[in-house]
Amino acid sequence: MRTAEIGQRFVDFFAGKGHTVVPSASLLYNDPTLLFVNAGMVPFKPYLMGTEPSPWKRATSIQKCVRTLDIDEVGKTTRHGTFFQMLGNFSFGDYFKSEAIQYAWELVTKPADQGGLGFDPSSIWVTVLGPGFHPDYPEGDIEAREAWRAAGVPDGHIQGRSLKDNYWHMGVPGPGGPCSEIYIDRGPAYGPDGGPEADEDRYLEIWNLVFETEDLSAVRAKDDFDIAGPLRSLNIDTGAGLERIAYLLQGVDNMYETDQVFPVIAKASEMSGKRYGANHDDDIRLRVVADHVRSGLMLMTDGVTPGNEARGYVLRRLLRRVVRAMRLLGVADPVLPELLPVSRDLMADSFPDVLTEWDRVISAATAEEETFRRTLSAGTAMLDAAVIDTKVSGSKTLSGEKAFQLHDTYGFPIDLTLEMAAEQGLEVDRDKFTALMAEQRARAKADSKTKKGLLTDPEAYAQIRALGETPFLGYTDLTVNTTVTG
Ligand code: ATP
Ligand code: MG
Ligand code: MG
Ligand code: MG
Repeated sequence: MRTAEIGQRFVDFFAGKGHTVVPSASLLYNDPTLLFVNAGMVPFKPYLMGTEPSPWKRATSIQKCVRTLDIDEVGKTTRHGTFFQMLGNFSFGDYFKSEAIQYAWELVTKPADQGGLGFDPSSIWVTVLGPGFHPDYPEGDIEAREAWRAAGVPDGHIQGRSLKDNYWHMGVPGPGGPCSEIYIDRGPAYGPDGGPEADEDRYLEIWNLVFETEDLSAVRAKDDFDIAGPLRSLNIDTGAGLERIAYLLQGVDNMYETDQVFPVIAKASEMSGKRYGANHDDDIRLRVVADHVRSGLMLMTDGVTPGNEARGYVLRRLLRRVVRAMRLLGVADPVLPELLPVSRDLMADSFPDVLTEWDRVISAATAEEETFRRTLSAGTAMLDAAVIDTKVSGSKTLSGEKAFQLHDTYGFPIDLTLEMAAEQGLEVDRDKFTALMAEQRARAKADSKTKKGLLTDPEAYAQIRALGETPFLGYTDLTVNTTVTG
């Protein structure tokens, strides 16, 4: 089943259960706490919170999502994309836990020739909030456990887990609640027995059912938050990974090998002469290329332009990582004009905007690649010299001053310096680099209090700091998206 067909099947199923099909919101949907939409519920937040009346009691959608927090996993795990589509069904004070569980079970197990997803019931595992983690659930989420039992899941396939896994919130104040997740056992070839608690590569998480009941006033970590009180209604918010379901149903190894992504790998492989499947590191690069090309395409289509401001910077990093990965695969010519059209043609069925916005997208991407190629050739010569000096001096650490100079003189981003130094077996003195960056920022701020220069825009910093899981280190990390329950 093609990815687009699976998505259609999901929303058709819920339309048949009285849900209104709501089109995907833009990735830039205007929620001030987020850089990008990172879950299907984001456009529905006011209805879940009860701050606005919902136009529908039940809704279903295929929402475009970007999770930059997952960038380091891309290509290494089988299941993390920076861009993916989240399927969801939502109830705003209408049905609740047991119905949500019944619906999910029905769709997942119904045979494919009857409109379902056709998973073998014996391969399904589920998790619920375990006992002792939440004051309102001293014995765990008994209701959810009961509903799964009633659906036919054997006790041995229901695992209780902690708040970290079975309580969902946005990573910022907003709605939250216990959740229950559905996993598919891919079989012993993928890891040890023991259910999702034992191994999340073998047991693949496909669907999270969130029972949104609480209004969170502060969120410090996945399992550390303050509850302001109950929400005005008991809501259902579910999220299923379309690409994850697709790779299982298509019988391929990972989400980059599905019909909507793999042809980009094939193109990159053809351009580089590197056969996919021949070399572990090259395979990761090819998957990164395919993933980032698609995220870049979707972000640009929704109106992001490469730049130094928060969203533009994320896009810039994604595009530059493609260029870098292709270089490491041996391709020195421009790559984006070759790769982006492949992704465009794959995504056009589901998102026709990629065609109507194309001219703008390809000219922005081409210009960005040109700029980066100039940066690369100037900075690489300096970095190579610095690497040799470092090695000759017997050190294993490239100095923070050098990294800063590369950044300051050549616009060489620190992540690139880190990556390129690592390829030569060197570390970088990041603390010193960060200190020099901070000094420079302080100077710039003192210099021009009024100038809204992007590296001195305190609002942008505050936003990213508020969202980041790690301390903000200048625009060095892509991990600026909000935390999401793992
Ligand atoms: P994981 O534990 O695998 O990182 P998650 O628990 O962070 O996933 P949720 O926040 O529960 O994911 O999101 C709901 C669903 O969206 C997941 O069950 C999964 O199917 C899908 N999903 C989440 N992150 C990604 C991603 N980076 N790429 C593709 N699909 C994803
Ligand atoms: Mg989850
Ligand atoms: Mg998870
Ligand atoms: Mg995750």
